[in-house]
Amino acid sequence: MNVVCIGGGPAGLYLGILLKLQDSRHRVVVYERNRPSDTFGFGVVFSHATLGNLAAADPESYAEITRHFARWDDIEIHVRGQVLRSTGHGFCGLERKQLLLILQERARALGVELHFEHTVSSLDDEVLRGADVIVAGDGVASWVRDAQAGELGPSVDIRPNKFVWLGTTVPYRAFTFLFKESPFGLFRIHAYPYSAERSTFIAECRHDTWLRAGFDTADEDRTVAVLEQLFAQELGEHRLIKNRSIWRNFPTVRCQRWHAGNLVIVGDAAHTAHFSIGSGTKLAMEDSIELAAALLSAEGGGAAAIPAALAAYQARRMPEVESLQAAAQASLEWFEGTERYMHLPPAQFAYNLMTRSLRVSHASMHKRDPDLARAVEPLLSGGQAGVAPRKTAVALGEHRLLGRAIAAGPADQAAGVGIGGVAGAAGAAGAAPLACWWRWGKRQGAGQPSPCSTPPGLAMIRRRCCGPPPSSPRRRGAT
Ligand SMILES: Cc1cc2nc3c(=O)[nH]c(=O)nc-3n(C[C@H](O)[C@H](O)[C@H](O)COP(=O)(O)OP(=O)(O)OC[C@H]3O[C@@H](n4cnc5c(N)ncnc54)[C@H](O)[C@@H]3O)c2cc1C
Repeated sequence: MNVVCIGGGPAGLYLGILLKLQDSRHRVVVYERNRPSDTFGFGVVFSHATLGNLAAADPESYAEITRHFARWDDIEIHVRGQVLRSTGHGFCGLERKQLLLILQERARALGVELHFEHTVSSLDDEVLRGADVIVAGDGVASWVRDAQAGELGPSVDIRPNKFVWLGTTVPYRAFTFLFKESPFGLFRIHAYPYSAERSTFIAECRHDTWLRAGFDTADEDRTVAVLEQLFAQELGEHRLIKNRSIWRNFPTVRCQRWHAGNLVIVGDAAHTAHFSIGSGTKLAMEDSIELAAALLSAEGGGAAAIPAALAAYQARRMPEVESLQAAAQASLEWFEGTERYMHLPPAQFAYNLMTRSLRVSHASMHKRDPDLARAVEPLLSGGQAGVAPRKTAVALGEHRLLGRAIAAGPADQAAGVGIGGVAGAAGAAGAAPLACWWRWGKRQGAGQPSPCSTPPGLAMIRRRCCGPPPSSPRRRGAT
């Protein structure tokens, strides 16, 4: 098989490795516009739960990757002068550049042809001629995706918050979230180690905060200077490090299809997941695992077998990716609205942060970090001891629900309400079942509002009810 890949990021390189492992007679060529050691970004974090797939797919590169890992178990949350530490999460990370160098070396050793400083900018490019499969692994700004928009049906949702990807010499020992009020507004920092001496340091803020801080006219040096001043206390004698550190808005990329004819898209070109759940690289590499397996099944079938193999790749991967994107969406919305939670008691704030992606249940928190789970229970139950979390009251807008279990009723579904049932028994003064609230929402809206026209207080519940259903088991380490 003759496979040509546009883009030598984790997706393209790993695919080359896996195809060569399957059959050394395959011809696999990767074109990368940058030099071998050029890269943007700093560390990439993986959760322990994701590593099994990489170990099974190629034990050799897995061993080399894990040899360079910084490992940690804790999440540390700095908020309103307090530091909360939650343990039992299981993360590891390495420098993005190191990851790429490992994959390049392994690919080269297996006979993948790597061409650096070679930009492919047209599907008519002669280097693509004669390819059985063209793989677009050209990243988040994929031109191939745009060129094939009619076939692939892409959508790019540009999120409102601003972020900048920096490094720091602070040797963090935990996944560290700093929430810092400043004269400009609230900053959120996502920091995590990638070696013994270096950490990733992503600064995120609302657009109005960003404008007030003057970042709209700041170059990289100015950005670093202002952030170093704002975080002088947290950084101590340490510095921030820049590397193409431009303020950006996160784009959530989705596509209706990932293949057209003999062309297939992988990794960030096909889908992105917000950096707050740290899974983009894992997703890109797992795409390659699935694509390589699908192409194996097309062997011997000639050109006619390729489209079916690419369809099989999409069918197997898309549910997993959509599930992770749903978690990433919940997480990014939490960070877009963090200002709303800043008044919460620190333990509740921390719990809220830890469960934001809707993948970590209370039972799971009890397993990971029983101290934090226990600390938050009296806050939720208003001091009542021994009340199961499911049975604690919750305020939603002007309503007070007596419990947190929600059941969908067939009558509501048939009526197109989308969700119904009662959260706890209604009856106490001021208490209302969720179904009533939902119908209220329907009455208030003009015409036929969708069940997703949810006021802010119900955003979490809306996502759980109306977002794509999680199709994979909860994973330890997913934040
Ligand atoms: C702030 C931030 C933090 C992140 N942190 C994490 C994290 O902790 N963990 C994690 O797993 N993921 C993280 N990610 C996501 C991760 O970086 C991406 O998901 C991952 O790199 C995707 O791999 P890829 O191979 O699909 O694309 P890329 O890594 O973007 O690689 C695409 C390659 O294609 C090349 N290319 C593009 N166009 C052309 C062309 N026309 N011709 C030739 N070559 C071309 C590019 O130069 C690039 O090398 C983060 C992302 C951001 C923005």
